[in-house]
Amino acid sequence: NNEEAAARAAAVNADSGAPTIFDKIIAKEIPSSIVYEDEKVLAFRDIDPQAPVHVLVIPKFRDGLTQLGKAEARHGEILGQLLYAAKIVAEKEGILDGFRVVINNGPEACQSVYHLHLHVLGGRQMKWPPG
Ligand code: IMP
Repeated sequence: NNEEAAARAAAVNADSGAPTIFDKIIAKEIPSSIVYEDEKVLAFRDIDPQAPVHVLVIPKFRDGLTQLGKAEARHGEILGQLLYAAKIVAEKEGILDGFRVVINNGPEACQSVYHLHLHVLGGRQMKWPPG
């Protein structure tokens, strides 16, 4: 099932610092469905949506942020910009009444792409606690 597949994918994906598929999305070498973009931030639809709205918000310059757990004080500004971009995405997608922002950090949280990203999910009743 999906959960097991995600766990397996996460187990083989560790933080090597290698470039990821998101670099190719930022460079527009592979297509994506862009929802929002500015100088620092790119937001595009997840290829495997877990809700009617499922958008990923990423920094255009990874700058060591393979995962939130690598954040340092100098990343404060971009971290704020990413969170604000999540709000802009929610507004554009018409889900301000209820949306969820998720960051999977590390193998135990099933992180599969080591370029920091916020998941913005909505458009359906979300459950709590998350899995
Ligand atoms: P993570 O599991 O939190 O690391 O999330 C990575 C997300 O990236 C997953 O939800 C994937 O579906 C998504 N993803 C992987 N490759 C692509 C792609 O090429 N385009 C859009 N989303 C992708």
